[in-house]
Amino acid sequence: MFYKSTRSHNERITGSSAILNGIAKDGGLYMPETFPEKLDCGALLKKSTYEIAETIFRTFFSEFSEAEMKDMVRRAYDGKFRSSDLTPLIKVGDRYVLELFHGPTSAFKDVALSALPVFMSEAKKKQGMKEDIIILTATSGDTGKAALEGFKDVPGIRIIVFYPYQGVSPIQELQMTTQEGGNVLTCAVRGNFDDTQTGVKEIFNRVNKEGMPENMNGVFSSANSINIGRLVPQIVYYFTAYRDLLSAGAVTFGDLVDYTVPTGNFGDILAGYFAKELGLPVGKLICASNENNILTDFIETGRYDKNRPFYKTSSPSMDILVSSNLERLLYLLSDRSEEAGSSWMNALSETGVYEIPEKVFNKLRENFEADFTDEVQTAETINEVFRETGYLLDPHTAVAYRVSKLYTERAAEKRVNVVLSTASPYKFPKAVLSSLGVYSESPAFRELFELSEKTGKEIPKNLSELQGKEVRFRDVVDKTEMYDYVMSQLKKG
Ligand SMILES: *Cc1c(COP(=O)(O)O)cnc(C)c1O
Repeated sequence: MFYKSTRSHNERITGSSAILNGIAKDGGLYMPETFPEKLDCGALLKKSTYEIAETIFRTFFSEFSEAEMKDMVRRAYDGKFRSSDLTPLIKVGDRYVLELFHGPTSAFKDVALSALPVFMSEAKKKQGMKEDIIILTATSGDTGKAALEGFKDVPGIRIIVFYPYQGVSPIQELQMTTQEGGNVLTCAVRGNFDDTQTGVKEIFNRVNKEGMPENMNGVFSSANSINIGRLVPQIVYYFTAYRDLLSAGAVTFGDLVDYTVPTGNFGDILAGYFAKELGLPVGKLICASNENNILTDFIETGRYDKNRPFYKTSSPSMDILVSSNLERLLYLLSDRSEEAGSSWMNALSETGVYEIPEKVFNKLRENFEADFTDEVQTAETINEVFRETGYLLDPHTAVAYRVSKLYTERAAEKRVNVVLSTASPYKFPKAVLSSLGVYSESPAFRELFELSEKTGKEIPKNLSELQGKEVRFRDVVDKTEMYDYVMSQLKKG
């Protein structure tokens, strides 16, 4: 299988090159040249999570042999998740919650970021690459920690993570600033997530144009969901959820299932669309947003308009106005037109607005629905679901849970609805406590224990252990200083 950029078709590269490059030279995102054939889902859905992962990974990265991939999956996941099922499906009230947060950092990004370092190391070997890889990552909170943990002490790879200053939860910040490992670095940026992400993209663009400064070696890459190696592992849990619905007797094979996805950069929900294209019986993919509801408007009208206020909410990983992976979806829906990438994305960066033609819009509507919740509704949902079912939602999952209920109410066809749960509630203890009527002024790690006392639910070990850990990183830079910061840190070695 070969990959091409969404913005021009001149370059044609292998999967391992696409993983190593992260983003294409023209600023576009890598996509399979042709979409893989439909999988034999009936057979696949009888398999274990590891086996499903092996099949899906090899579908996209066909350079790796069966034996190689088997070993890669084992290295990616063994001992890192609570169980080898990775992502359990739980019945909560009248719907299902797909728990994606049982990895090393208690966020769903662990699913992909446990696999990406293995993909990169192996891709590096396949390409015979000698230089170090330098991973640059912008994070709205969860990617950063999951990437740091995934790449920690991986030979031949260094990682620098940027996060918006005061734009992540205190627990998320502590997770990153206390990160261990000899090849890791984190730095805050004065600005919001979009500024941080744009800053990282500009570093890539500048290095692509000018090359590395003199006397400096290394190749930049990305661990953000613009990297195709991030997207592919996320397809797997759409399949395992369906498999688990089958074994619970909630569906029979072929029944369409709706998935509600709390969405930020559009990576997670796009993986759901890939699953559907691979033949999984997916009904609607429901895009759930918080008050930054630009995607709700887009999916309802076909007009993307980022000229609007930016809100900091209790679900910070969804506080995003430029959803990078939407470019991949539009590329597919417009029959791989390079225009989707280049002209719409140019319009977006120049005027902040673009509108898709009716034909593309109709295809979007066949597959996607959207809705959003405000801060009060998110808090109410956490409270209500806990009172009625004893299940504790994190704010991101609460947004999706509520949107999923709203959708079921208005949908013409009632189908089983799976809500993707993207974080442990313990990553956002202040917001969750206040939803339950407890207004804590305690330091972040104390709140973990207050939440546990209030709900009787166990704190994930990786979070309770933050208490007393040494803070290793305190740097804060302006968004204009990011390039110089990176180069000066690399010079230090
Ligand atoms: C990253 C993240 C999201 C959004 O996922 P995207 O792939 O960016 O759409 C939602 N919830 C949590 C907790 C996250 O960390």
